[in-house]
Amino acid sequence: SEKTVSDQEKVQIKKLSQPAVFIPVDRLAEIQESRLKLPVLAEEQVIMEAVRENPCIIICGETGSGKTTQVPQFLYEAGYASGSGIIGITEPRRVAAVSMSHRVAKEVNLSTRVVSYQIRYEGNVTDETKIKFMTDGVLLKEIQKDFLLQKYSVIIIDEAHERSVYTDILIGLLSRIVPLRNKKGLPMKLLVMSATLRVEDFTDNRKLFKIPPPVIKVDARQFPVTIHFNKRTPLEDYTAEAFHKTCKIHRMLPPGGILVFLTGQAEVHGLCRKLRKAFPFRKGNTTTGEDEEADSSEAMRKFKKAKQKKPVSLPRIDLDNYSALPVDEGDEDRDAGIGEDEDEGSDLDIGDDTADKEEKADPSIPLYVLPLYSLLAPEQQAKVFRPPPSGTRLCVVATNVAETSLTIPGIKYVVDCGRVKKRFYDRVTGVSSFKVSWTSQASANQRAGRAGRTEPGHCYRLYSSAVFGDFSLFSEAEITRRPVEDLVLQMKDLNIDKVVNFPFPTSPSAEALIAAEQLLVSLGALKEPPRTGSIKQIEQARLSCPITPLGSAMASFPVAPRYAKMLALGKQQDCLPFVIAVVAAMTVREIFEDLNRPAGSEDENSELTQRRARLTQMRRLWAGQGASLLLGDLMVMLGAVGACEFAGCTPKFCEENGLRYKSMVEIRRLRGQLTNAVNAVCPEVGVFVNPRMAPPTEHQVVCLRQIVLAGLGDHLARRVQAEDLLDPKWKNGYKTPLMDEPVFIHPTSALFKKLPEFIVYQEIMETSKMYMRGVSAVEAEWVPLLLPQYCHFGTPLESPSPWVCSSTGTIRCHRRSTFFRVGWQLPAVEK
Ligand code: ADP
Ligand code: MG
Repeated sequence: SEKTVSDQEKVQIKKLSQPAVFIPVDRLAEIQESRLKLPVLAEEQVIMEAVRENPCIIICGETGSGKTTQVPQFLYEAGYASGSGIIGITEPRRVAAVSMSHRVAKEVNLSTRVVSYQIRYEGNVTDETKIKFMTDGVLLKEIQKDFLLQKYSVIIIDEAHERSVYTDILIGLLSRIVPLRNKKGLPMKLLVMSATLRVEDFTDNRKLFKIPPPVIKVDARQFPVTIHFNKRTPLEDYTAEAFHKTCKIHRMLPPGGILVFLTGQAEVHGLCRKLRKAFPFRKGNTTTGEDEEADSSEAMRKFKKAKQKKPVSLPRIDLDNYSALPVDEGDEDRDAGIGEDEDEGSDLDIGDDTADKEEKADPSIPLYVLPLYSLLAPEQQAKVFRPPPSGTRLCVVATNVAETSLTIPGIKYVVDCGRVKKRFYDRVTGVSSFKVSWTSQASANQRAGRAGRTEPGHCYRLYSSAVFGDFSLFSEAEITRRPVEDLVLQMKDLNIDKVVNFPFPTSPSAEALIAAEQLLVSLGALKEPPRTGSIKQIEQARLSCPITPLGSAMASFPVAPRYAKMLALGKQQDCLPFVIAVVAAMTVREIFEDLNRPAGSEDENSELTQRRARLTQMRRLWAGQGASLLLGDLMVMLGAVGACEFAGCTPKFCEENGLRYKSMVEIRRLRGQLTNAVNAVCPEVGVFVNPRMAPPTEHQVVCLRQIVLAGLGDHLARRVQAEDLLDPKWKNGYKTPLMDEPVFIHPTSALFKKLPEFIVYQEIMETSKMYMRGVSAVEAEWVPLLLPQYCHFGTPLESPSPWVCSSTGTIRCHRRSTFFRVGWQLPAVEK
């Protein structure tokens, strides 16, 4: 009843046929109380007025101010989901989509049938859904099906500051969709929400918004955070440094949660383990670590289910239930006590500026250590939001996810390593690698801000202020850093033929767009541009190739175009289950334990050497013999997945056989997802995930090698020929069309000894040499058939047409056809 609507507003509402119904929400008292503390609530009126009056608005506010959880509720209460349209919110991270949908459902006191999420091929959306959280990729897919997004009355693009590629494209697309909808009398609203500033990319970009959208700033009641820089030059071993700093904070500083920023999952687990060892507090417990908890979460789920069925007979063990008694204070790290380590003691600044120093730190308080990263199981993730067991101090060791997507309550101290893990790509070769590099000033300040949410806090930077001064101001938009072929394919599938003209908030380089277009043409996903006409016409045509039916099929799979092509082709000869398994295995970062020889362990008899020999042996076994061996490392992957599933995919099996358990679990999940995707695309095929897949027949192995060649055609390599061997560096080397240097088959590869003449590889990783990973042997005579785009077929007598296809359906390749650039002679084929 307080929410009276003025006459003028009523007119406006009517004019835009907007909802005038207010939907009551019945929140629990405690929820109501905590949300009243959120800064965004003070802006509800302003935001809703702006939404009513403008088609697009931008909301800027500190992380934790309540944007993600509250703004959808404002819209819901104002009736934006009361008609036929629903409220859609996109997140760049899966974690955020899932966790935020649960949180909002809880806050509005409605079931997950009404407040739901959708990520890739998994979700709980129903007909009753009114508020839908999803990843940005999911909404992009929906635009492909319905360009006007008629299902939605509002779209909120969250975390726009992250500048994820899909988010950028969505903003570009929605800048066109929203006016189109309003013109058609189907009004729609767009809200862009971002944490840090630099909204100029959106507001000052006339290509994007003709009229700049209003920007609403949410003032966060941020408490002061004292920044402490390291005095030393930055250390390489920042995890050790983070450990010492955290121990010190815990021992010496008053209560308050600690949040440590590291770069990756492995580091996070490493530090968690060390901290738990340093501060063990579970009674009689010495070994239990989060690793095991996380690893066995699957088993745990099953176990819990079993327990529900038989509630009486099993003893109840709850890993969350600590009898939080400090056990041992005499561990090695205690000695490095206050002020003893000069370098560090000083920059903790205990004393003067610690406002609440009268609250004496109690060294006997147990430390409750939790990991947080994006691939962590949701039930593990949810733990960080719960209050720590009473009498303990919370310590969350996190990756970048804690920077802006998730706000952990009660943090007073931040330890920032100043680094971030990023994927780097070589534009020419497509070689990619993860590298840890310095973060940006904006990110570092975001991280620091996490300490001042509820009271004044402290941020300990494990680097000097000079180093900070050298950081870039903002992180680059992802779109400018990565190959864009999957994007270009998605956009073509949306009938955006001239991708260069698209209103990107930040445009990728023309060079990258051209490279993408060429790859897609060569994969057969885009129509080959005509080669006749004026130079300008040819140039134009090259940049606006329309999509082919194969391309459309490929665009419907949630994997990179090369793999999408394999999936699209996979149904032949009943190969699909194998293709799905191989693609899943190739998409997961690393499925095998690293067998590289670590420096300084040359001892033939060492345990490590023996283990390595045994595991290599095992891989050879999986690769099989004869025909199947030619599928090479992909056969090893298939064998590993198959064997592991037969063994029930247990951590023990993985450990014994040199497989990464987490990767195997991920592969299983991906197989399910890809199978759903394939079934959605071509229901007539009807594949099922049979975890216990029988190995492929020899016949199928041949088909698989061809499918792999079709997908990885631009990764063809040929063993160096005799004439090149004058230079010893080429010994056992392979030549690729794009590189001048030799590349090699890795010693752990199934084909290391075999050295087939023609191979395709999954990727090249540079370590001591340029090594190819994921190698399969292919036959030269398949190349003209499967990769016509890469071949020159012309003989002087023939027309430029690459390919003779007579009325009988015979495909014939000319004698003397060659593989492009390198001019490899290919055999003539008739089919
Ligand atoms: P923003 O989007 O502006 O960064 P959020 O809406 O994510 O802010 O967070 C608002 C508040 O809600 C924060 O204090 C956060 O800790 C709290 N919150 C978010 N998710 C949960 C959850 N699952 N359980 C408890 N509190 C949560
Ligand atoms: Mg948010």
